[in-house]
Amino acid sequence: MMSEEVSSDRGGAITLNSDGTVTVPENPVIVSIQGDGIGPDIWRAAVKVFDAAVARAYDGQRQIQWREALAGEKAFAEIGQWLPEETLEMLRQCVVGIKGPLTTPVGGGIRSLNVTLRQVLDLYACVRPVRYYKGVPAPVRFPEQVDMVVFRENTEDVYAGIEWPAGSPEANRLTSYIKEHLNREIRPDSAIGIKPMSRVASQRLVRRAIRYALKQGYQSVTLVHKGNIMKYTEGAFRQWGYELAGEEFSAQTVTEAEVYEKFGGEPPHGRVVIKDRIADMMFQQALLRPAEYDVLAMPNLNGDYLSDALAAQVGGLGMAPGANIGDRVAVFEATHGTAPKYAGQDRVNPSSLILSGAMMFDYLGWREVGDLIRTALEATILAGVVTYDLARQMSGTNEVKCSEFAAAINEHMG
Ligand code: NAP
Repeated sequence: MMSEEVSSDRGGAITLNSDGTVTVPENPVIVSIQGDGIGPDIWRAAVKVFDAAVARAYDGQRQIQWREALAGEKAFAEIGQWLPEETLEMLRQCVVGIKGPLTTPVGGGIRSLNVTLRQVLDLYACVRPVRYYKGVPAPVRFPEQVDMVVFRENTEDVYAGIEWPAGSPEANRLTSYIKEHLNREIRPDSAIGIKPMSRVASQRLVRRAIRYALKQGYQSVTLVHKGNIMKYTEGAFRQWGYELAGEEFSAQTVTEAEVYEKFGGEPPHGRVVIKDRIADMMFQQALLRPAEYDVLAMPNLNGDYLSDALAAQVGGLGMAPGANIGDRVAVFEATHGTAPKYAGQDRVNPSSLILSGAMMFDYLGWREVGDLIRTALEATILAGVVTYDLARQMSGTNEVKCSEFAAAINEHMG
């Protein structure tokens, strides 16, 4: 593993600007974590696509300097640590990284390497774009109407891990305290979990979602919550979201209520509409009226459910890209696991990692590269060249290996 400072002779450092954007040199250093199980297979395939797309988009004038960092089984085998401090430091220094899936060590004292990465680097926004790629078998009639980007809060909610088993001294103490001091009754054999949601964490997530919608030209940001039932947590998320939009983006946004009250039902040109939907209704809307939704911002649990449901809707659960982004570091990642039974067989679908890379290029402002990759990947699938997972759901395909699929994408860039 390399640990030296990022230096210009080996490639330039990406730097952070005060407004949260990044400045990217011609030869930026990007951290790569190959991951466990199928991680090395999909990384080998994906990096060829990334390098080819950059070379093609900029005629060889730009190039990524990949810098490998260790995590997971490879790190444990080589240096006896699952997530070395050196890797975290490299991510902090280089600002942007991309990773394959990591095994969750069993009994290693670490709950999940992914959760640890998010916590330690404060990667508070889980971003999952969901759109349809032509040719992919999908379970709904009009999958092409889905083009949504989920911003899921990554650090709070029932995922904060503050919970105690039924009958434990902590649960019993809390139950007694709540009865004595707050006059609320909880059954004595109850397990207890805490759902903290703060203004600061909710608003930084919504801020990022609105900035993204403005930058990418999306028309609306929908706050998805369950505030009708959980008024002081989910309801507050909704309230804080609207407040932030009003305080920081009043010239660029308009609420859905204002669209009807002041603008006769037509949003003023160029303004992003801020609306909200109750989570269960949002699941219906996603199926019945997907074209009406663009960027969705939501607390952790809603985001977990909805992002997978949306990905399934376009048939792309195994191809869904994602990223975990904070104010200082962004890590793009395949959203599936390590699929250990396929490890080393050059067989699985590398699309999730490849599309996460496309998302990373958008983040760097190298939109041409992201577009080249997405277009070529779609053309490859449309030509019937697919890996086993898609081949088994389609007829008349040419089933290829992981590396062959990547090579076909590169051919389609031509
Ligand atoms: P998984 O690794 O995602 O695999 C489940 C199944 O999904 C595979 O058997 C395969 O289905 C399909 N699949 C996954 N990736 C695929 C790909 N690239 N191409 C084609 N098919 C693919 O889930 P898991 O078995 O529950 O988890 C295994 C390990 O991964 C665990 O240690 C878990 O903690 C870890 N994990 C890591 C991450 C992460 O790093 N972000 C995320 C989730 C899980 P078929 O068998 O039907 O072909």
